[in-house]
Amino acid sequence: MKRIYRAASLLQVAHARNLLIAAGIDCELRNQYLAGALGDLPMLETWPQLYVDDADELPALRALARAEAVPAGTPWICPGCGETLEPQFTGCWRCGTE
Ligand SMILES: [Zn+2]
Repeated sequence: MKRIYRAASLLQVAHARNLLIAAGIDCELRNQYLAGALGDLPMLETWPQLYVDDADELPALRALARAEAVPAGTPWICPGCGETLEPQFTGCWRCGTE
C-alpha cells in the first residue's frame, strides 16, 4: 500500500476519498480517529491518511490532481458582455469570449 494523501482535516481526506471512489480507485482511510490522540506520535503521522494499492498510486494521484485543477466554485463575469457564468465554463455561451 502507498500513502497518497493526508491532511489535518478529516473532511479534506474524506473529500479526496470520494474523488478516488468516483474515479473507480479503491482506497483505505487510516487514522480516522487517531487525530485526537495525544502522545509522542509525530503530528503528521496522526493525520487522517489515504492509502491505495501500489499499482493504483499513479492513477490515484492523477485523479486527485485533476480534481484540484477544477476551477474554484465561484461564478465569473464575462468581460465581453457581462454575463454571469458558472465556474465550470471556460467560455461565455452568450458572446463566445474565452
Ligand atoms: Zn460574454
